[in-house]
Amino acid sequence: MERTLVLLKPDAVQRRLAGELISRFERKGLTIVGLKMLQASKDLAEKHYSVHAARPFYQSLISFLTSGPTVAIALEGREAVAAVRGLMGLTDGVKSPPGTIRGDYAISIQNNLVHGSDSVDNAKAEIELWFKPEELTSWNPTDSSWVAG
Ligand code: UDP
Ligand code: MG
Repeated sequence: MERTLVLLKPDAVQRRLAGELISRFERKGLTIVGLKMLQASKDLAEKHYSVHAARPFYQSLISFLTSGPTVAIALEGREAVAAVRGLMGLTDGVKSPPGTIRGDYAISIQNNLVHGSDSVDNAKAEIELWFKPEELTSWNPTDSSWVAG
């Protein structure tokens, strides 16, 4: 089973969409194996987005991600990385199709509500960055034969 990291970024929390967005991931059949709310430090935000350090939007992105609480979620399921990327949609809320999270709720490029890991390797590193080992669970949902059959 694959794992991935989702962040409900500060705009999602401020706009009171956290519950609704968590529901979308649950309803897809993904399993929550870790979940917490925290306000990211500058150090954490910079590590998380280090791949974008040279981009013109980087400073603004770091101040956005540190501006308020974020909900960090570790999800598990068949091809969880691709499943989450599909639910999220494209980076730009305007270009993202209706039915996706960003397509339904975002009109910004930066303030696009969610982060999802883009590869299995990055997912592993990002889960380790945001969660301590003891904050993660490993469990078998009772409906797994229906969801994953
Ligand atoms: N971002 C931005 N301006 C851009 C591109 C990206 O502010 O021109 C922000 C946006 O919040 C995005 C994040 O930087 O989610 C990371 O960019 P990436 O290209 O990895 O997009 P994602 O994987 O989140 O779709
Ligand atoms: Mg990305």
